[in-house]
Amino acid sequence: MSKAIKGTIAIVGAGPGGMAAALAAIRLGFQVVLFERAAEIKAAGNILNLWPPPQKILKLIGVDTDDLGAPCQTFFERYDGKQRAEVVLPDAVVREYGGGFIGLLRWGLYKRMLDALPPGVLRLGHNLTSIHDEGRQVRLKFANGQEFVADILVGADGINSFVRKQLWGEEPIRHQRLHLVGGYLFLNSAPEGKGVIAHNRTTQVSYTPIRHEGKWGYEWWVLEACDPNQPPPADLLAFSRERAAGFTRKVRELIDATPVAHLQRWEIRDRPPLKQWSKGRVTLVGDAAHPTSPYAAYGAGMSIEDGYFLARELDAVSLDDTAAVRGALQRFEDRRKPHTAQVSQGAFHTGRMFHHMPKLLRPLRDWVFDNTPLLQKFVGDAMPGHILSQLAEIEDAPPFRRIKAVP
Ligand SMILES: Cc1cc2nc3c(=O)[nH]c(=O)nc-3n(C[C@H](O)[C@H](O)[C@H](O)COP(=O)(O)OP(=O)(O)OC[C@H]3O[C@@H](n4cnc5c(N)ncnc54)[C@H](O)[C@@H]3O)c2cc1C
Repeated sequence: MSKAIKGTIAIVGAGPGGMAAALAAIRLGFQVVLFERAAEIKAAGNILNLWPPPQKILKLIGVDTDDLGAPCQTFFERYDGKQRAEVVLPDAVVREYGGGFIGLLRWGLYKRMLDALPPGVLRLGHNLTSIHDEGRQVRLKFANGQEFVADILVGADGINSFVRKQLWGEEPIRHQRLHLVGGYLFLNSAPEGKGVIAHNRTTQVSYTPIRHEGKWGYEWWVLEACDPNQPPPADLLAFSRERAAGFTRKVRELIDATPVAHLQRWEIRDRPPLKQWSKGRVTLVGDAAHPTSPYAAYGAGMSIEDGYFLARELDAVSLDDTAAVRGALQRFEDRRKPHTAQVSQGAFHTGRMFHHMPKLLRPLRDWVFDNTPLLQKFVGDAMPGHILSQLAEIEDAPPFRRIKAVP
């Protein structure tokens, strides 16, 4: 196989992480092939929020982010609407990104990313079944009998990553004993730019505005502890209505108005942070490296960030030089590990604090959140810190230039 000037990168998994890694590497002149086992790209889930750093990266890697989602400010509230904390970002960030984060449907993001991929990059129906790192190149084999040889392999194949398993063996999955029912609905007029994350003693019931293909609406979710050995609720709408009783009228009305076809349920699982991501000419991005609970609303966002930072490191070395490649992959993961571990572990512990605290301690927890600035400090002030440090790191990116979307 003839080598492109800057080398060939094979990416396995066309979720947000794989697509971002592909777009960033293509922007820097690499030859990229993105392999996906599914026969067509389907969004894994319905509802999504994106913080400013992934929005910024999407722009830099050529994704059309105009009108991608509904901007909103995020508030933490008690079930009855009493405010507990607010995520406050500097005015300049709010002006540029519209607020704390944007609300959208997952397919809206996938569609924009797919549209930005040049023809021929994506190869569907390719289920990776074997990896052989031959030192100067990596040989891949797929269930359909096809083979491919690349300079680098990027495993973007999600929480049950085959690539990670080949590199580091089988690691137990962490069942958080939490489940989430999420739904969405469309409206005829623009909603208020306010997102609310609300809790009672046991349950989170939250909503944010959304924008999807020119339509306004809301997404909402109900999250609480579950027993994975019990069957899931048969009627998701009835379950959500029952759990939202006692929360504000606004969220109850949103749930009532949601079509049954717009509901989905997930059990929440993640994995403890992986000590080492890369080996030889192979590395991991996104959930393959750091599966993240939806409590962070940042798993897809961090996957997008990974793709961009990986491409930057690879751009600085020759892919013919195995030692230099090794160094680049190590610098990539060393840079990403503290941030991703902090976010994914933070999300895990927040889930435990709100849903798995012993019954006797819950009134005390809630008294503290209602009467002290602890929750503001814990989430309201800590989150902007993460956002601003990521935005600053992305600002330092000399190879990328913001290019206006082609009309
Ligand atoms: C209910 C819920 C709500 C969430 N909300 C948010 C949110 O608001 N904001 C946010 O940022 N994140 C959110 N997340 C997290 C987010 O969904 C994930 O972190 C994100 O999808 C990870 O992207 P990824 O590209 O790494 O992996 P994935 O999206 O899992 O994609 C992996 C891809 O690899 C493919 N694949 C797997 N194995 C193979 C193989 N052997 N060969 C070829 N292809 C393969 C799969 O088919 C898939 O297309 C949420 C998650 C859940 C469950």
